[in-house]
Amino acid sequence: MKVLVIGSGGREFAICRKLKTSALIDEVYCAPGNPGMERIGVHPVEIQENNFEALATFAKQHAIAWTMVGPEDALADGIVDYFISNDLKIIGPDKQAAQLESSKDFALNFMQKFHIPTAQHQTCTSMEEVDAVLAQTSYPTVIKKDGLAGGKGVFIVENQKEALKILTTLKVSPQSPVIFEEYLDGPEYSIFVLLNQKSFQILPVAQDHKKIFDHDRGPNTGGMGAYSPVPQFTVVDFDRTVNEIVEPTINGIHTMGFNYTGIIYIGIMMTANGPKVIEYNVRLGDPETQVVLPRIKNDFGKLLTECVDQADLDPIEIDSQAYVNVVLAAKGYPQNYVKDQRLPEFTIHDKGMIDYANVAVDDQERLIGNGGRILSVIGIGDSIKEAQVNAYEILSDYPVNQTYYRHDIANRAVQE
Ligand code: ATP
Repeated sequence: MKVLVIGSGGREFAICRKLKTSALIDEVYCAPGNPGMERIGVHPVEIQENNFEALATFAKQHAIAWTMVGPEDALADGIVDYFISNDLKIIGPDKQAAQLESSKDFALNFMQKFHIPTAQHQTCTSMEEVDAVLAQTSYPTVIKKDGLAGGKGVFIVENQKEALKILTTLKVSPQSPVIFEEYLDGPEYSIFVLLNQKSFQILPVAQDHKKIFDHDRGPNTGGMGAYSPVPQFTVVDFDRTVNEIVEPTINGIHTMGFNYTGIIYIGIMMTANGPKVIEYNVRLGDPETQVVLPRIKNDFGKLLTECVDQADLDPIEIDSQAYVNVVLAAKGYPQNYVKDQRLPEFTIHDKGMIDYANVAVDDQERLIGNGGRILSVIGIGDSIKEAQVNAYEILSDYPVNQTYYRHDIANRAVQE
């Protein structure tokens, strides 16, 4: 069968790479994809992810069995509703369910309804309400913009002066609410769950590194690296998280009758008072996908087919190998960045692999950087330590001008 993946980044590269190993799948298309994908036999399709009509027409004309959606914007804009109304099979939540990511207020109300532990919070739709909250807030406190903000809508403030400075830029109104959250402390973990209306399966756990610089310094980014497994997330932590968070979340989705087929990401923090939800995302995460999917031993094409057909999902079999993803970003990221760096050719390597993300081609069809997060180097090993050493060895043999990467990805797992 033929399948279509929507998106163009490293996450979609990793999804396509995994689908290419499926015994059920003959061709993998990716819209718009990226030119690096041709290196692994995936066909980029020149249709942007927000052009639902052209995507649906492509799916019909090419007899696509099902479509898997990578990015959140397309889901929040209702790509699933559009495909379903055109009798096309698609993996992702519909627009209503996608609010679990696109509206923090919606997600917090959902958690409250189903008694899912999260930070204490208050939503404000006017400056009067803000003033009332500020009068009794202790610091640090967390201020969040309600809608999708690409990782730039969360502010941890240390005092009232900083809070007011942020709040004037956010222009609070009923159309633009802000949320005040209790500041939580503890390590964060990424839990991904594959679900449909009948069943769910938990994918391997990962941990990502959001800050641009080593030792978690500098601004947040889309993610500078990730690794899986996460040995410091113990079996006890995992079981508690499943009981207190994962199961109530899935039950809540089913009880609400959401049309939700696909992946839910649960970002949790392990606090002194147990696991708490930091956020939901309604799709796979980037850079975690690049280390989570390779650990799944099942035929991923079969799993996604079961998912979209609302069948019982096969139990996930997890490979014991470790994966460490170090993101290579253009100099200047996450602000203004440089582009057009020549990328050396990369040949098949037993110590790891490269997943291309933001790349283009020059006039001789050679891959060049296209800004932002250019690619992921994924080290593979029998332990996190070995995978980490392998990732950094590949990076040192793969010089790219005007780029930057963190040197401490997975240190938290290795040092404990
Ligand atoms: P955006 O809304 O801008 O797209 P996002 O959805 O990635 O960003 P969150 O995941 O809610 O935003 O928060 C980003 C990071 O901010 C978290 O990974 C966590 O480190 C920190 N954070 C969020 N909420 C809290 C909290 N209540 N206490 C402490 N830290 C928090």
